[in-house]
Amino acid sequence: MSTTLQETLLHDKKATTTMRALVFRGPNQIGIEKVPIPKPGPGQAVIRVTLTTICGTDLHILKGEYPVKPGLIIGHEPVGVIHELGVGVTGYAIGDRVLVGAITPCGQCEYCLGGDLAQCGGAIGGWKFGNTINGAQAEYLLVPAAQANLAKIPGSLRDEQVVLLADIASTGISAAESGEIQIGDTVAVFAQGPIGLCATAGAKLKGASLIIGVESDPVRMAMAKRMGADIVLNHQQTDVVSAIKNLTHGKGVDVAIEALGTQETFESALRVLRAGGTLSSLGVYSGKLSVPLEPFAAGLGDHKIVTTLCPGGKERMRRLMELVVHGRLDLTPLLTHSFPLDRITEAYKLFGDRREGVIKVLIRP
Ligand SMILES: [Zn+2]
Ligand SMILES: [Zn+2]
Repeated sequence: MSTTLQETLLHDKKATTTMRALVFRGPNQIGIEKVPIPKPGPGQAVIRVTLTTICGTDLHILKGEYPVKPGLIIGHEPVGVIHELGVGVTGYAIGDRVLVGAITPCGQCEYCLGGDLAQCGGAIGGWKFGNTINGAQAEYLLVPAAQANLAKIPGSLRDEQVVLLADIASTGISAAESGEIQIGDTVAVFAQGPIGLCATAGAKLKGASLIIGVESDPVRMAMAKRMGADIVLNHQQTDVVSAIKNLTHGKGVDVAIEALGTQETFESALRVLRAGGTLSSLGVYSGKLSVPLEPFAAGLGDHKIVTTLCPGGKERMRRLMELVVHGRLDLTPLLTHSFPLDRITEAYKLFGDRREGVIKVLIRP
């Protein structure tokens, strides 16, 4: 016991200067590499990641459909413990368990202070992890604007209960919030992938009277029911537009949520919408998106089309965790598979190919 504090610190420093991380090298080129553990600057923190997952967006990055620069660590859904705090971060201690949203607003710019946290600094600017800065599929993660983004996890919650709140739950539920679902509204949710399933859960939380899911994958159809859908229509077997019109006595739904990002689903969402209704869009579209004029009532139907990027920041995470604490939201059924970080490329393959009824894959660094 004769080692001095300084010697211990030196030893720790030597022992832990590198970490394993999933690095993007170019389209269809990802792999685990040894990279330096980040050091926090003023206002930043470094967390040791204890649990993360793979997002559909990461698959787009892998395929080269969403450009990020080669050498970037990807992933944006971190749960971890505080490893190191930069100067100026107060109210936290090393070892605190934290959830960090996929979107990390600075909390200080005109967008943030105006309430548009996800658009921090400009369009899509709140999305930094695995996009413009290194991401969460690693042993350690540098968190920018730590004071605005470290959300302490209540002691009663396990990592698995909160990991999906970082992105898909915040995103999916936000579709119901942006659509301003009123108690008693009828809602259709197009596509029941991870985000669509969370949108379905969000519609239920907001008090919809009838929730109609649209999906063709049997596993996802069943999960939609579990998340709150009353009826799930298989678009490969049914004309969903006329079926939804029939279910709403010819009127159409009050709110239609689009959770896929294709012309077809966007158009169907518009076709099932009542006059004055809201199309709440979550999809990430590519190419061109066109609006058919007949269901849009030539522009005179008082329709609202709203889009939402995942809300982030620690207050958003706190609110979502409270839903879990009080038993109003349980997303653990969506966690179908688990892999150690070293086997993450296998996890990407399984998730990308949608094999074995996969919905979300846990990654344990
Ligand atoms: Zn994502
Ligand atoms: Zn900002």
